[in-house]
Amino acid sequence: MVSFVDKLLLGRELKFEEGRLSIFDQRVLIVPVELILLLIEKSVADEKFEQAIYDVMKKSVYGFCQTLAKRRGIEPKKMVDLLINLAEMNGYGKLQLINLDYDKKQAIFHMRSLPSEALLEKKLGKRIVDRYWAGMLAGGASWIFGEDVDAVETRCVADGKESCEFVVRKV
Ligand SMILES: [Zn+2]
Repeated sequence: MVSFVDKLLLGRELKFEEGRLSIFDQRVLIVPVELILLLIEKSVADEKFEQAIYDVMKKSVYGFCQTLAKRRGIEPKKMVDLLINLAEMNGYGKLQLINLDYDKKQAIFHMRSLPSEALLEKKLGKRIVDRYWAGMLAGGASWIFGEDVDAVETRCVADGKESCEFVVRKV
């Protein structure tokens, strides 16, 4: 079976040139997981910072979808599959779509193995910690629904749950 990564490579959608890694012509970075864990720990201790991370992630994924749609004419339903594949390929974890309602502009996602599972033993003061990831889902979902939506995490692997759950709905 041809994997998603193979397909990207075959279509020249995943490129490494002049020290730049890009997916669909948009630059990405491979960063150590510790950087994400540090972002989470800082976010948990500082609501303003947490909101800023949420907002920047939301904007970033929304922009990614917008550019991709403009260049390649990708329809919303195809974008859902693409984003799920990208989430896995980028190593964040296994993203599962539980429910998606285009009319109500609502969705539920389960995400296994986010890096925050490493924070289970830490006393962070909060047990639901993946606000940055909620931001990414909110950005993708806002583009897919064609309307501004937000995502809220309702359970978390950092709290010992088997997956994180995110609920997307209108602002
Ligand atoms: Zn979580």
